[in-house]
Amino acid sequence: MRVPLGIIDDLTFLTALRRDVHAHPELGFEEVRTSDLVAKLLEEAGLRVHRGLGTTGVVGTLQVGNGTRTIGLRADMDALAMPELADRPYKSTVAEKMHACGHDGHTAMLLGAVRHLAATRNFSGTVHFIFQPAEEGRGGARRMVEDGLFELFPCDAVYGLHNMPGLAVNEMAVVPGPQLASSDSWRLTFRGIGTHGAKPHLGRDPITAAGTFLASLQTIVGRVVDPLQPAVVSACSLQAGDPKALNVIPDTVEIGGTARAYTPHVRDQLEGEIGRLAQGAAAMHGIEADYRFERRIPPVVNDPDATARALSAARSVFGEKTLTSFPPSTAGDDFAFFALEAPGCYVWLGNGPAVDGALHHNSAYDFNDEAIGPGAAFWTALVEQELKACRASARAGPFGPRSWSRN
Ligand SMILES: [Zn+2]
Ligand SMILES: [Zn+2]
Repeated sequence: MRVPLGIIDDLTFLTALRRDVHAHPELGFEEVRTSDLVAKLLEEAGLRVHRGLGTTGVVGTLQVGNGTRTIGLRADMDALAMPELADRPYKSTVAEKMHACGHDGHTAMLLGAVRHLAATRNFSGTVHFIFQPAEEGRGGARRMVEDGLFELFPCDAVYGLHNMPGLAVNEMAVVPGPQLASSDSWRLTFRGIGTHGAKPHLGRDPITAAGTFLASLQTIVGRVVDPLQPAVVSACSLQAGDPKALNVIPDTVEIGGTARAYTPHVRDQLEGEIGRLAQGAAAMHGIEADYRFERRIPPVVNDPDATARALSAARSVFGEKTLTSFPPSTAGDDFAFFALEAPGCYVWLGNGPAVDGALHHNSAYDFNDEAIGPGAAFWTALVEQELKACRASARAGPFGPRSWSRN
């Protein structure tokens, strides 16, 4: 583990900062106090600061030398609407809000990298430090993109990081390909003709059509999608008729659910096939089907070139504790919207053992302060390697690794 001395010296400050953010959790698009804190520290470090993208988003820009390459580093700032049940000195001071996903740690470690890089300036190029709001299902990344993030701050590559319990704090996983699933919703309405339950021949029964549809739904994953490609289709909501009217066949049945995939192709397949089965079941029973597929979050798929760069940086910090194989998560992360705009890589930083079995989104979860130094060191190494200063190459830099230089 190689953490620069400047970061080690800053750990007391960064740990206090992390705990302060933890004690004052804010939900998506409401990160007023947190974004104030972030902006103040960015300004103190001498960065150019832009606020307001995605309401509470903050971008700090650090430009050094005449290198033309530009990269974006993402931290998320939001907390979750849930109570913190574990007791700790820096426990949430806000009822029903807590940092149960470790975004407090992501914010602190990226600020740690900012403070170190602004002091040492051992690179040539431009870094945009992107502090995004509302990662937890509220669409913060998409809003920042829609507000012009990449028009204002074009990036040649963009990177994201998430803490991962179960990996040791001296471990990082940098894996090519899919990291997180797409997270989409679908809804459909079967429209028949309601009638007396004893006289089905006088109407068109949407419930029987719904049964046909549901019985065939899992054939999408079993018979259409490549067996080597993961996919999930679940029906999670079913509404029809009235339990107080058991002699009435209703006009309509509403069904909704979720779909998850790791590639754009499989995602397209799920969208198309659910609709095809719905229309097929409707046609079979002589009724109509209205179908909507709502694309919420695309999959996070690591770009090969960006992944190679992240891997080199990780190896310079974590050495042989850098994992290149790690299972993808069925959760989603809206970093995916950033990775649609520039080649992207998303890495997993060890958070140590799951204390008392508490994982992400558990009311006892806590980011591990021991991971702040390694995380800040990774961001620092990534910047210093990817935006390697030409003259610095003769001095070999603090870690000595050679890397890509396009300056
Ligand atoms: Zn989360
Ligand atoms: Zn998270």
